[in-house]
Amino acid sequence: MKIPKERLEKYRNLKREFSEEEYINIHPIQRGGVLTEEAMKALIEFGDGYSVCDFCPPKEARLDMITRPPIRDFYKDLAKFLGMDYVRVVTRCREAIFIAFKMLSEPNDYVIIDSNAHYSTYLAAELSGLRIKEVPNSGYPEFKVNLEAYIDKIEEVKKEKGKLPSAILLTHVDYLYGNLNDAKIVGKIAKDYNIPFILNCAYSAGVMPINGKELGADIITGSGHKSWAASAPTGIIAINESLKEKILARSKISGDITKREFKAKEVALLGCTVMGAPLITLMASFPKIVERVEKWEEEINKIRYLVSELERIEGFKQLGIRPKLHTLTHMESESFYKVSINHKRKGFFLYEELKERKIVGIQPGLTKHFKFNTYGLTWEQIKYIRDAFFDIARKYNVNIK
Ligand SMILES: *Cc1c(COP(=O)(O)O)cnc(C)c1O
Repeated sequence: MKIPKERLEKYRNLKREFSEEEYINIHPIQRGGVLTEEAMKALIEFGDGYSVCDFCPPKEARLDMITRPPIRDFYKDLAKFLGMDYVRVVTRCREAIFIAFKMLSEPNDYVIIDSNAHYSTYLAAELSGLRIKEVPNSGYPEFKVNLEAYIDKIEEVKKEKGKLPSAILLTHVDYLYGNLNDAKIVGKIAKDYNIPFILNCAYSAGVMPINGKELGADIITGSGHKSWAASAPTGIIAINESLKEKILARSKISGDITKREFKAKEVALLGCTVMGAPLITLMASFPKIVERVEKWEEEINKIRYLVSELERIEGFKQLGIRPKLHTLTHMESESFYKVSINHKRKGFFLYEELKERKIVGIQPGLTKHFKFNTYGLTWEQIKYIRDAFFDIARKYNVNIK
């Protein structure tokens, strides 16, 4: 079918909606994925299709075996950095979770997950043919996951099924409140029951120091585009020795006519995963990532400061654990909600007021609650954001203490 020329024009010169140069983007999912200069350059160098495959070793033709560019070394260094034994880069954190669920379970088994888990965790379980049990949280205003309740849920499954759950998963830092969980508690429970422990570090690994061994994780999952200054799609699955054979099982299939076999290929990865630019951006940013996780404390200082300032606005209240242990923040803003009721733009007024001040990333239409992330912003930008909110509050006669 022929597509009219005019219709194709719009694809030629695509532009970003909000460039990092022009706007301060506080979208929760975007702060940790801003590329480094090194990654930008690498992206262009390796932009072509299967660009990392120039020098694929003929004997073991597999992404993790490539030495030029140094993917093999990168996987080793990345595993070490996370305090784990092996690493594979996959397309997304959710794929890493899916691979772990799939390879550790039989259909209809249970997995236990926390009640603040990302939606893709549920879908990964669903696609793996699994049932789930959720570990409850404390509800408003902290929404703190009751980590000891993993024990109750394991016992529940044991009673119901006569069999332990095939894995337990904890979201290290959740996407709703930015609550950081004490993974060691769950690591200990998993160990006592001898159940594989998946720690989902989508919002933690790559921005803060993570040591999987210390936390008692058997598997760590991560998101390159969320937290490692990499392009999408990139995800990380880091595995301890004890689960290597299961997760990275080799292919056993053979063609019934051709008898062809693919014994070097890792089944769950379908052979190779990210064979081009996104993987290279993850690698190119890695030296900066190694440095930046050491500056996590300063990131916490900044968000605590901003929260304390914003809470001077009448009706503003930070939800989730206090004080903040992560830069992703959920704010309740009752007073702005009241403003929105009488505003001609209704709930969109906040988004629009902020955008006028070159701040983007808050979901359009929301005023009662909103989420944002300050990771990687300068003190100057933090103060600029505070001033913008104060400015908007004054404009609509909302008190500032
Ligand atoms: C963003 C997020 C994911 C999904 O990450 P992808 O790399 O896009 O698959 C999974 N879990 C949590 C907790 C997240 O915040």
